[in-house]
Amino acid sequence: MTSSSTAPNWHFDNSYTRLPSPLFSPAVPAPVKRLTLLVLNEPLAEELGLDATALRNAAAIFGGNELPPGAEPIAQAYAGHQFGQFTNLGDGRAILLGEQLAPDGRRFDIQLKGAGRTRYSRGGDGRAAEGPMLREYVISEAMHALGIPTTRSLAVAATGEWVMRETPLPGAVLTRVAASHIRVGTFQYTAAIAEPGVLAALLAHAIERHAPEAAQAGDPAVAFLEQVVERQAALLAKWMHVGFVHGVMNTDNMTVSGETIDYGPCAFLDTYDRAAVFSSIDRQGRYAYGNQPAIAHWNLARLAESLIPLVSGGDDERAITAVRGVLDTFPERYERHHLAGARAKLGITAPEAGDRLLFGDLLGAMAAAEADFTTTFAGLAAIAESRSRPEASSTSPELHAWYGRWLERLSREPWRQAASLLRRSNPVIIPRNHRVEEALAAAAAGDRGVLERLLAAVREPYVETPTNAPYRTGPPAGCGPYRTFCGT
Ligand code: AMP
Ligand code: MG
Repeated sequence: MTSSSTAPNWHFDNSYTRLPSPLFSPAVPAPVKRLTLLVLNEPLAEELGLDATALRNAAAIFGGNELPPGAEPIAQAYAGHQFGQFTNLGDGRAILLGEQLAPDGRRFDIQLKGAGRTRYSRGGDGRAAEGPMLREYVISEAMHALGIPTTRSLAVAATGEWVMRETPLPGAVLTRVAASHIRVGTFQYTAAIAEPGVLAALLAHAIERHAPEAAQAGDPAVAFLEQVVERQAALLAKWMHVGFVHGVMNTDNMTVSGETIDYGPCAFLDTYDRAAVFSSIDRQGRYAYGNQPAIAHWNLARLAESLIPLVSGGDDERAITAVRGVLDTFPERYERHHLAGARAKLGITAPEAGDRLLFGDLLGAMAAAEADFTTTFAGLAAIAESRSRPEASSTSPELHAWYGRWLERLSREPWRQAASLLRRSNPVIIPRNHRVEEALAAAAAGDRGVLERLLAAVREPYVETPTNAPYRTGPPAGCGPYRTFCGT
């Protein structure tokens, strides 16, 4: 394995490799047979301080055939509750190359997903298929454009090899970029092995990267937990306001940075339905749309438990009281973020006591009418601008009645401001499930133009343009329930 000779301007550090050894294992990407760069994220490359043209010439890095200068590749150890069951996991098909230091001083993990087997692969092949990696690329870009904290995707490279799933599929490697890959499950693993000093070292590392002010607090572990609780409360409110269903909110798929991670069986709501589940493996609906805030709270309780040995000088009773005090603030924090977002989605700047009820009643009317979540909200701006509700015949009785109440409420808001707030707060474009599938099917058949057009549309989610019209509507009638599949 050689280092790249061209100069994309990598500036690597490997701070994770300086942590105690139980937290990771050295891992070398397995070279791929015939590499083709399928997509390269040029705006992201620029943010990272990388030269996109040089990257295209150094594409071997995106398959793991070459390493960026200064890389010390590892697989990270972690555990996690998967559908409620505790399991030891670790990066079974992902290899952290190192951390790129961006020109603005930020540090980004650069990870190859699908780069071959590691110490944690168990029975798996360490590989990934092209469709799911392109899917992660599109959806993470869409989330970023929607203003939602997320891991990003720098590139997807085809491997020229087959991966064996239910049927043989073309393989690919995704280059994932993240504030870090430290998960709730990383803390669970570290607490479970109970080796002296390891948990404290992980906490110090996580604090330095994600919550430096917590280091000054009387109890840094508690201050860190509070930061994570706050970020997850904010994140969950954002997910709910765009109709995002993560699909596999296991504790290993929840970051302490507050970024959305692990785009497996995720999907976006078309019609509004709190019980919506897309993942074929979520048979009980544990991770249904409406359950997500409660699950986040449950996952944070697992983080809180893991931190107990580091709180209050190891005094169990006091430590439990301290972490519980922080954990119990999750519902209020979530509610505060959710209500602030709800007001923005309704065009409201001057809060009134009835706003929460007004928002809840809109959701109720949408559920009764089986209305499309995104287009219903996106339609509010035009209603506000015309100051008149749609004809009763063009909508459901519940929605028609609600529009009347809402326009009455908006009469106490500055109109022009309300309209522009509505446009900024309600996306017209989400990565519609049927559009994502269409783009992946075309890419699989060798035509990446459909994917490029979808990417262009999801990158500008708040503006109506003539070219994005086809991406603004829900699925054609008769599409049937959408299903997603995990672990591919
Ligand atoms: P995920 O469902 O992607 O969150 O993965 C759950 C666990 O399974 C993680 O530890 C992954 O590293 C591991 N895993 C998933 N797919 C594979 C694979 N093809 N080979 C090895 N490990 C895998
Ligand atoms: Mg995962």
